[in-house]
Amino acid sequence: MKLYRIKRSKIDNKGRGLYAAKDIKKGTKILDYKGKIITNKQVDESDKYDNGKPIYLFTLNKRYTLDGDFSWNTAGLINHSCNPNSQYDGKGLKIWITAIKDIKRGEEFTCDYGFGYDEDYRQFPCKCGAKNCCGFIVREESRWRINKKFAMSNKKKLINNSH
Ligand SMILES: [Zn+2]
Repeated sequence: MKLYRIKRSKIDNKGRGLYAAKDIKKGTKILDYKGKIITNKQVDESDKYDNGKPIYLFTLNKRYTLDGDFSWNTAGLINHSCNPNSQYDGKGLKIWITAIKDIKRGEEFTCDYGFGYDEDYRQFPCKCGAKNCCGFIVREESRWRINKKFAMSNKKKLINNSH
């Protein structure tokens, strides 16, 4: 039985997301993130990837990247959240989605897209609705740059990293 169902989602502007078809325990693999393996050189050279936000691109290693920008990649429907319940995992040339919390039937699966903070961040507003939503799709470590209320927890990290 599939662990997910495709349904309308308020988070995504395309209007769809993946939802838990049953209760799921933390640590459960939900589905594979499918795509085509391309070389990092192709990413650098093709216009298709000439976009500061590689939403569907995962660097696998020094040589290869997974391009998941295909309609048959169901996991590509998973939306970003500032308080995600799932994450992207990978080994070798494979990527999959793992639950990082216990997830109740009917909840939407969400991941942190991990976007960096740069001058384009305003192009990607976040509608996740989480209490800690910073308003834009930016990875957790960079959210303090957008909203000072995230600064406290981040200061510690900065000190630890001795930046
Ligand atoms: Zn958010």
